Amino acid sequence: MGEFPFCSPVSIWVIITHTQGDKMNQLAWSKMSGKMVGIPALNTDTTTNKFCIAKSKDKDSICSECYSWNMLKTFRKNAVPRFKMNSDILSSRVLEMNELVRPNGNHVRFNAHGELINTNHVQNLVNYALFYPKVTFTLWTKKKALIQSFFNKHKKPDNLILIYSNEIVGTVYKSVPKHFDKVFNVVNSNLQEVNCDGKCIDCMMCYTRENKTEQIIEKIK
Ligand code: SF4
Repeated sequence: MGEFPFCSPVSIWVIITHTQGDKMNQLAWSKMSGKMVGIPALNTDTTTNKFCIAKSKDKDSICSECYSWNMLKTFRKNAVPRFKMNSDILSSRVLEMNELVRPNGNHVRFNAHGELINTNHVQNLVNYALFYPKVTFTLWTKKKALIQSFFNKHKKPDNLILIYSNEIVGTVYKSVPKHFDKVFNVVNSNLQEVNCDGKCIDCMMCYTRENKTEQIIEKIK
């Protein structure tokens, strides 16, 4: 299973706390390590996400081997309350702009853990991009229908990069679905062209608008 959209089991995660407002009731960005060192992430809880729960039982999907699920059920259980808090805040309503806690970086990721929950969640991520135009936000998601139905009616901000996460191992997409910028594919052999290796901070293919590579291919780990 690939390292993305989940993190490596050897990653050490540190939750950043912020000084504004009530810490227990505000969004919390995570400081990442391992492959994603240097890329802050606004994570949500995989273990209570209905989509993730259903997909975890689908043997044809990469989700049945989800690193995030395995970590949050075992040695990173302590991250679940913070991620669940983010899930609840992001999905409950459209937030005021001053509730969108600033990320500590200019190239950041949504959902290194977790998956989109509902339209409120999407709208809040869009509002992040609108509120912080100098920050580039990248979202990985498998929920193509939710993205397409939302962006059929709303303009996508230029500083929001959408990556469709292909759940079928070994099948590289030939095109990019409507409203997405890239596809993330996982393959199980080097016979297919692998262009995702090493640390994101040294690569940044997924985090810079100028990079026009459409198919990201990682060898399964
Ligand atoms: S292509 Fe580069 S930026 Fe994208 S996930 Fe792979 S290493 Fe990270």
